[in-house]
Amino acid sequence: ENIRIILVSTSHTGNIGSTARAMKTMGLSSLYLVNPVHEPDGQASALAAGAGDVLANAKIVSTLEEAVSDCGLVVGTSARSRTHSWPMLGPRECGEKLVQEVSNFPVALVFGRENSGLSNEELQQCHFHMCIPANPEYSSLNLAAAVQTLCYEIRMAYLNKEALPTAEEAYPLNEDLERFYTHLESTLEGTSFIRKSHPGVVMTKLRRLFNRARPESQELNILRGILASIDKSVKAPLPEPDNENESPN
Ligand code: SAH
Repeated sequence: ENIRIILVSTSHTGNIGSTARAMKTMGLSSLYLVNPVHEPDGQASALAAGAGDVLANAKIVSTLEEAVSDCGLVVGTSARSRTHSWPMLGPRECGEKLVQEVSNFPVALVFGRENSGLSNEELQQCHFHMCIPANPEYSSLNLAAAVQTLCYEIRMAYLNKEALPTAEEAYPLNEDLERFYTHLESTLEGTSFIRKSHPGVVMTKLRRLFNRARPESQELNILRGILASIDKSVKAPLPEPDNENESPN
């Protein structure tokens, strides 16, 4: 229930139905649709077949941020690598990681549009990217086929979960990470390190850095404390050091 499959802006309702079926055959039930081009219709129901319940319970939301805010692990899927490369997982590792961490918080696996995949902004909201190492000359699977492949890996990891080490680190939820990034950006604007009018790639690079490090909840609290202390001294610069103590008298 807490392993969430998220489809972003799907165009073909048949793919939504086939996704529901792929999920149910592998024991998954939590489907989120971010801003689908068409809401599930008769075509979706026909392809969902016996998985009409998964389809009927699908949650429709308008942004990816909303769909992952309460998740502690978010994996984005992509058929190709992007400019700012991100920590990567293979399909097997991805199944194992999702199953290992789902005892701590909801986890999500995100799939993109049929014609253009996930945008860079959407991919930047993920901790890891996952690519199915398909034929390099033709690596783009049908959306529901990609979902089926990953749901199978999740199933295999689940059936074998006694053999997996337990995840003990307490990681923050995505909404806490997003709050941190917003705070970091505003602090860096406050110190004039970045300018609102020319944000450039600094925030993207910093997101990549913190994603790679994957701070634990306590570490994130320390970082936020540091930002708050910077904010305070930017607003009220420290007084000049008092020279009296250095005076020979
Ligand atoms: N033309 C798009 C491909 C979209 S395929 C592009 O170049 O990005 C639709 C979705 O299926 C993708 O966004 C991804 O979620 C999934 N998918 C297809 N092939 C995949 C692969 N080889 N590895 C991982 N995900 C894949």
